[in-house]
Amino acid sequence: MTATTPPDCDVFIAGGGMAGLTLALALDQAGLDVVVADAQAPSTTLAPHFDGRAFAIAFASFRMWKALGLGADLEPVAQPIEEIMVTDGRPMGGVRRGGPSLLHLHFDREEISPGPEGEPLGYMLENRYIRLALDKAIRERSRVRVIAPMGVAKTEVDATGATVTLTDGRTLRAPLLIGCDGRGSLVRRQAGIRTVGWPYPVTAIVCTVAHEKPHGGVAHEFFLPEGPFAILPLVGNRANVVWMEKHAVSRALLAMPEAAFLAELKRRFGDFLGDVRLEGPRFGYPLSLQLAERMIAPRVALAGDSAHGVHPIAGQGLNMGLKDVAALAEVLADAAALGLDLGDPHVLERYQRWRRLDNVAMGLATDFFDRLFSNDIAPLRLARGVGLALVNRIGPARRFFMTYAGGAAGALPKLLRGEALAA
Ligand SMILES: Cc1cc2nc3c(=O)[nH]c(=O)nc-3n(C[C@H](O)[C@H](O)[C@H](O)COP(=O)(O)OP(=O)(O)OC[C@H]3O[C@@H](n4cnc5c(N)ncnc54)[C@H](O)[C@@H]3O)c2cc1C
Repeated sequence: MTATTPPDCDVFIAGGGMAGLTLALALDQAGLDVVVADAQAPSTTLAPHFDGRAFAIAFASFRMWKALGLGADLEPVAQPIEEIMVTDGRPMGGVRRGGPSLLHLHFDREEISPGPEGEPLGYMLENRYIRLALDKAIRERSRVRVIAPMGVAKTEVDATGATVTLTDGRTLRAPLLIGCDGRGSLVRRQAGIRTVGWPYPVTAIVCTVAHEKPHGGVAHEFFLPEGPFAILPLVGNRANVVWMEKHAVSRALLAMPEAAFLAELKRRFGDFLGDVRLEGPRFGYPLSLQLAERMIAPRVALAGDSAHGVHPIAGQGLNMGLKDVAALAEVLADAAALGLDLGDPHVLERYQRWRRLDNVAMGLATDFFDRLFSNDIAPLRLARGVGLALVNRIGPARRFFMTYAGGAAGALPKLLRGEALAA
């Protein structure tokens, strides 16, 4: 295939995870012809217990999904987050042994969005429902072509476009190739974009539990010396638990018989929500920080985890990817409206300027928070306790954190304001 071969589509997206499929829908809304290839079979990614994760979705990210027509499918399964309780040093299981920790921070949505019509701080959404909604929207309401299961094996670029070789040997050509292919991104590697980062000594254990009493939409994050322990409300009397421990401890916990694991879990979880039982399997995720040195290369752009994999301490990884998606879709829609080449370096530069600094800042902030909270050194314990107490007492600081975590700070792309992209 050569530079004179006509393109098969306007944009080729490698990777049909949540960033890739959301981007495909957004570009389709803007009137572009999109092909997505994903290495995994839909029967795997749409299975009920696919990877056990549920995501804290910022209210701005949720607005984008609504603007892309996913509202009717997502709203019934999205648990609004009404309050967030951040507590230093003591899990709920420890409450009985000496009362709740005084070092806490409380975010309440009433403060930034009062009244019954106000937006919550965010939503908890199970991965399986997001994937089902994206899959349905792509199949029923878009012209996006998805090729799966099908890996991208090789990518090459020349002056007029990118040529992608699929694992079955087929080749496809587009003026622009977008890598939404996750942390191990082949697109990133083949474009010669290096990464900086480091592994964390912990694995996140993720599981879903059912409990007796209603959670009231309150998310809890306890900063224990080993790492955070989060109880995140799901629809119904259910919660997603994200529990971080050193690798060896996590391995042992993941391998334990269910009853022994549940007993360990309850020691940390406590009984404030009544009795707790496991719903489905446990999953382990070793954690690392990984930031791409650039988000663009000739005829190539990166979005989502291919550009930045961060510590899940603040539940921001996917939200960062969705911000990339909203900015990139707007940049490409504007370029198409002006009749510009979608792979033009100036077009791609505009995208990188919009997103890179925010991504690096968030990646480093999550790293800083992890270091600050994941240890038991006395002066640090004191400093973070004072920090939490200060932010808790200062209204504008609290509101700043809530707005930033909600994804509504900075120059917001249209989709994050809930506005559709014109075709
Ligand atoms: C424990 C944990 C909890 C988290 N909680 C939150 C949270 O609450 N909120 C939040 O915002 N984020 C959270 N995150 C982060 C979030 O999971 C990721 O940021 C997000 O899943 C990244 O999505 P993505 O689409 O960019 O990449 P991925 O989900 O990794 O998708 C990449 C896709 O590319 C495909 N692919 C890979 N290579 C190829 C190839 N060569 N050819 C074709 N296809 C390919 C894969 O099959 C996959 O479908 C959490 C992460 C962890 C580990």
